[in-house]
Amino acid sequence: MAKKKSKRKQTEKRARKKEWARRRRRLLVTGISLLLLVALALPVFITGGRMAPTRPTESPAARGTEAHWHVGLSVTVDGQPLSIPNLENDRFLDIHDTATTLPQALAVYGVRLTETCLNENCTDDGGRLTVSVNGQPMEDFTRYLLRQGDEVRIEFSKAVEGRRRQVAT
Ligand SMILES: [Zn+2]
Repeated sequence: MAKKKSKRKQTEKRARKKEWARRRRRLLVTGISLLLLVALALPVFITGGRMAPTRPTESPAARGTEAHWHVGLSVTVDGQPLSIPNLENDRFLDIHDTATTLPQALAVYGVRLTETCLNENCTDDGGRLTVSVNGQPMEDFTRYLLRQGDEVRIEFSKAVEGRRRQVAT
């Protein structure tokens, strides 16, 4: 009698176990389907339903409306960081054109860069202007077309008496 009872309990137990296993499997399948759905939907969500367009016939200006990229920037005058308002995260040029030179990108932030001047600081006064991109000194920096992820460093050293004399002789 007691044996029979325990046997029935065991079968019940086994049935319950099976039921749990079935539930776990169902949960797993649901979980995987959900993950797949999210993985498939995410790119569409990010691009706002438009997949990355490749339209070579379109003009650069038209494509420019969709562009958004960044260039790291550090500008110093006599070693002191030049404060440039509105830089993204205080150090990135926020660029929305597909092609832009360094002076063009800086002009958006009210900074004037020419071959010889950084704002009001000019090399005719004996100062020195150096520009490097990704650690490489750049001679022709006014015509350099920026690329996404570039790190630009602009340094102006004002004339010191010694150098002014050196330049004069
Ligand atoms: Zn940005």
